[in-house]
Amino acid sequence: MRRYGFLKHSLVDYPGEVCSVVFMPGCNFHCAYCHNKNLLASVHREGVFLKDIVSYLKDAGRRFVTGVCITGGEPTLYPETLSYLVSLFKEMNLKVKLDTNGSHPDQIRLLADRIDYFAMDLKTVPGRYVELVNEGKDTIGTTIEESIQLLLSMPICRYEFRTTLSWQYVDEDVIDTLGKYMHRDTYWYLQKCRLENVKMDAKDVVAEYERMSRCYQIAKHYTQHAHLRE
Ligand code: SF4
Repeated sequence: MRRYGFLKHSLVDYPGEVCSVVFMPGCNFHCAYCHNKNLLASVHREGVFLKDIVSYLKDAGRRFVTGVCITGGEPTLYPETLSYLVSLFKEMNLKVKLDTNGSHPDQIRLLADRIDYFAMDLKTVPGRYVELVNEGKDTIGTTIEESIQLLLSMPICRYEFRTTLSWQYVDEDVIDTLGKYMHRDTYWYLQKCRLENVKMDAKDVVAEYERMSRCYQIAKHYTQHAHLRE
């Protein structure tokens, strides 16, 4: 029987909702800053079974939980399980958000009617996604473009993009190129890259924040809903 990571309450994983978070570990990317390996190990050790998640969410109303965020790893790698979870949570009258790296636009299309909110990572420009995958290098750029366009075709309240400011994949030019995809009111969150075991002196910290700020100014040029978050 499969185990999941499970966070009972979150105020930050679903805009406007108090949500529970279901983690499905395993990913087809290898971002340098990823914690997926740790997640795999901890879910394997102490993850919870679906029956326990369902049992908790049956009382969602009393617990003030109004939604579920399904995240990873990359949940679209498990289409049957993902579809089942979405139907299950919708039947419980919960709103459902999906976090995705955009590698499976077919899943986004298939689930678009049942998922209330999508959050897609924009890790770098589509042409550089070859740096993040071992398989499908020939097609990953166009696949990511397809996912971007799918989200952009939805009402503005149903999706957001997120970019982790990891300088290995992102710089000011990358933000400028990604900005050109945005509508004027697209929500786009630029977030600080958190690396474990990296110590920075005061000068580096200042330089880091100045660079984040430059990226934010560029993003703001393209959408009124660009935000910077820690
Ligand atoms: S897409 Fe997310 S889960 Fe996958 S390797 Fe990158 S950071 Fe980790």
